[in-house]
Amino acid sequence: MDFTITKAQKQLKREVVEFAKNNLNDQEYFEKFSEDMWKKICEFGFLGLTIGEEFGGLQESYLTAAIAIEALGYGCKNNGFVFVVMNHIWVCQNLIYLYGTDDLKKKYIESMLTGAKIGAIAITEPESGSDALSMKTTAKEMDDCYILNGSKMFISNGPIADIFVVYAVTQEEPSRKITAFVVERKFDGVKTGPDIEKMGLVACPTSELILDNVRVPKENILGKIDSGSVLMTTALEWERFYEFVPHIGVMQRVMEKCVEQARARKQFNRAISDYQAISHKIADMKVAIEMAKQMMYKIAWLKDNGKTAYEETSIFKLYVSENYIKTCRDAMQIFGSYGYTKEYDIERELRDALACSIYSGTNEMQKNTIYNMASFSYF
Ligand SMILES: Cc1cc2nc3c(=O)[nH]c(=O)nc-3n(C[C@H](O)[C@H](O)[C@H](O)COP(=O)(O)OP(=O)(O)OC[C@H]3O[C@@H](n4cnc5c(N)ncnc54)[C@H](O)[C@@H]3O)c2cc1C
Repeated sequence: MDFTITKAQKQLKREVVEFAKNNLNDQEYFEKFSEDMWKKICEFGFLGLTIGEEFGGLQESYLTAAIAIEALGYGCKNNGFVFVVMNHIWVCQNLIYLYGTDDLKKKYIESMLTGAKIGAIAITEPESGSDALSMKTTAKEMDDCYILNGSKMFISNGPIADIFVVYAVTQEEPSRKITAFVVERKFDGVKTGPDIEKMGLVACPTSELILDNVRVPKENILGKIDSGSVLMTTALEWERFYEFVPHIGVMQRVMEKCVEQARARKQFNRAISDYQAISHKIADMKVAIEMAKQMMYKIAWLKDNGKTAYEETSIFKLYVSENYIKTCRDAMQIFGSYGYTKEYDIERELRDALACSIYSGTNEMQKNTIYNMASFSYF
């Protein structure tokens, strides 16, 4: 495996950091969605990183995309905004681009790539979270369409999204089957609830999605009819990779802030970085960043070579999220009381980090998957 980062990739990384620092760090929008920032990132061409040139995308490799996204996480302090962008690209646009018919791609990709339409994914329901396949939303065939009924919960981008990938039950007997549909906000019967107040990632609005006798044309089936659970597994691979790549950049940013603080802050006439209780916390951050990057390169390599990465993305999601939370928690300890104040921005980083052990499948669920893998043969 070749770990060389090309000059072009290094240049892109620098450009993304520069762009993010100059355009995406307006404090006014740390806790609300900014249409202006959305326009800027669209104009920068970020949404089309891996999309084919025929649709106006940059057609970069998955590794180049990962490098750019890690840089976005580093340069953009607004973690909620980064979450909006990752949700749009990886759980909606990318699924239509990779698994949609030519007609679906023609219908949606261009407007999603320019950011004219924002995407979201709707799996979770009030009574089905980790056990996603026990969902109750139904899709009943009628003439040339399916009629969707149900309610989806915790939909990131919900209040601002135009296009939702919605999973629904298409067959109960003899065996339960799920199908994914591309649903537009403008379809009759689609409603979203108010923005749900959350402790973090506030710049990413979240809501319920209500489907009340929504007629979805058959051409809007994503993948094949009744094959939604397979699609969901594949979709979660992309999500567990690219939604967690920016967190590596955040860890780097938080670590650098800790180094600066630990060297500047003096107690007992010495910089607190002289105390190993402090410097070892920073060493742990550095190790986590390096290990996460190794896994990032491996998964990007698997994806660039057309391979699946189900197990690897579960391990990546678990490792990055646990260490992202630990990094922010340790940063608060290094900053002492100052870290607990709003002024130093560490408390916001911690609040934003905490959700990542829940979304994209909880860490307990990842451990279930990883445990199952552990019982496979060594060879
Ligand atoms: C910020 C954020 C954004 C989100 N965005 C979206 C989105 O865009 N679209 C969407 O569809 N959903 C989204 N979700 C929902 C998220 O995917 C679910 O919350 C998650 O899958 C867990 O479901 P739950 O909250 O219902 O918890 P539950 O499934 O009820 O779990 C509660 C607890 O029990 C544990 N548990 C449950 N079953 C097991 C088991 N078999 N073994 C071990 N432990 C278990 C869980 O790990 C957890 O600790 C988002 C959530 C958050 C926090």
